[in-house]
Amino acid sequence: MIRMRFAPSPTGMLHVGNARTALFNWLWARKNNGKFILRIEDTDMERSKSKWEKAILDDLRWLGLDWDEGPDIGGDYGRYRQSERLDLYHEYASQLVKDDLAYPCYCTPEELGQKRKEQLSRKQPLKYDGYCSQLTNRGRNLFKAQGRKPTLRFRVDGDKLCFKDLVKGEMEFVLGNLGDFIIMRSDGWPTYNLAAVIDDSLMEITHIIRGDDHLSNTPKQILLYKALKLYAPVFVHIPLICDMHNKPLSKRYWYSSIVQYRQEGYLPEALVNYLALLGWSPKNGREIMGIDELIDSFALEDISGSAAVFDIKKATWVNSEYIKKLKPDDLMSACMPYLKSADEYAQSLTELEPEQLKNMLAAIAPGLKTLKDVSNEAVPYLIDSIEGILDTQSPSFSEKDIEVLKAFNEKLVSADIFRAEDLKIILKQLKKETGASGRGLYLPIRLGITGEPHGPELFELLPLLGKKGCIERLKQTFNWLDSNAAKV
Ligand code: GLU
Repeated sequence: MIRMRFAPSPTGMLHVGNARTALFNWLWARKNNGKFILRIEDTDMERSKSKWEKAILDDLRWLGLDWDEGPDIGGDYGRYRQSERLDLYHEYASQLVKDDLAYPCYCTPEELGQKRKEQLSRKQPLKYDGYCSQLTNRGRNLFKAQGRKPTLRFRVDGDKLCFKDLVKGEMEFVLGNLGDFIIMRSDGWPTYNLAAVIDDSLMEITHIIRGDDHLSNTPKQILLYKALKLYAPVFVHIPLICDMHNKPLSKRYWYSSIVQYRQEGYLPEALVNYLALLGWSPKNGREIMGIDELIDSFALEDISGSAAVFDIKKATWVNSEYIKKLKPDDLMSACMPYLKSADEYAQSLTELEPEQLKNMLAAIAPGLKTLKDVSNEAVPYLIDSIEGILDTQSPSFSEKDIEVLKAFNEKLVSADIFRAEDLKIILKQLKKETGASGRGLYLPIRLGITGEPHGPELFELLPLLGKKGCIERLKQTFNWLDSNAAKV
């Protein structure tokens, strides 16, 4: 049974890098009918907050990355918060001390700082000098008597350590540079490396996919697995995500935090699709893939060894592709929250008959980059007067354009019904009568009705405005043309 985990520290919002890590682990679990476990690594007492844990869980749920075991639902391998597992860490740490594989270190932060300074000035590698590893019982008792609270350090022994990473290949670390490292802090809380090793092993995690910023932790973890005689999972270290300037993606950008996408009107399926492409691509090179296709085609061997570049433009393009594919009902319910929280103007759309609103949304869907765009894109449908737009856009009409527009106006006045089919017939007649075609026919009509050269599909917009609405807008355009001509 494949068992994967996502182990966030609740010290901030879920960001793009962590979400991608969660997704890769989730995909591999789902592909193999395995389990996806959520574990909260909250051993940094000062920075961990339950509000961040809640926010991370909310974001994962929004992305659709469901878990089979976790702090909120429990499971056979619980507890799933490290702060609730301290007894286990102590038990294993005591075993290491008993086997003389770990020892108490009484050096204070000030003393350690001093040692580091000296190493720096002597250009020596920065590592613990092993002072407390040699302490006799008497020496320990003296420190204890001074009231010093010890940390626990793991004894690093051996020259080098080799392991195989599924992305990076064969890795070799020189242990001499490592120094004995802390596994238990003086306040009795474990360090990340000890807690993660015990949990990953007890939770029977089979593979760990994580960012390669953790690569330097892996030798320490492997040493701990060996010392504790615990079984170790397969390691898969994925390259970090960079921005367009090849710098690690900064948390400063709005788009580095998942919650922002929800606010900006991205569809979770679209974001998941884009995140999957950060450092992985299927053999067939496809880009737009629904969740089932992602699960089907995801393979560890196709994970790239080089940094993934985050491109918000591409993420937005993927989003627009997903918006285009939404069924009318789904589009309406997806847009509703954005319309409701938009200005009064756009809010009035929510009072339309559902059928009318659905048609309108279908008409503007091809132009939507995000769901939030809906209020702007809806403007051509909403306004009663286009005079303001004409004044600011100041579109230019040739004599021929005006001729087309006048002829169109006449046809409208005498039209009985006014649906997309009627519009088609009218345009055909206009083409014949005026000789205008293509852009020469559509552009003056678009400009005359909306005041702008771009916008929603005419066949959708015009019937929705209705005969009356169109005639009214054309009247405004003619007036504007007259007054402009008068000014010249
Ligand atoms: N809590 C660690 C982090 O958020 C987990 C690292 C790991 O996956 O082992 O970076």
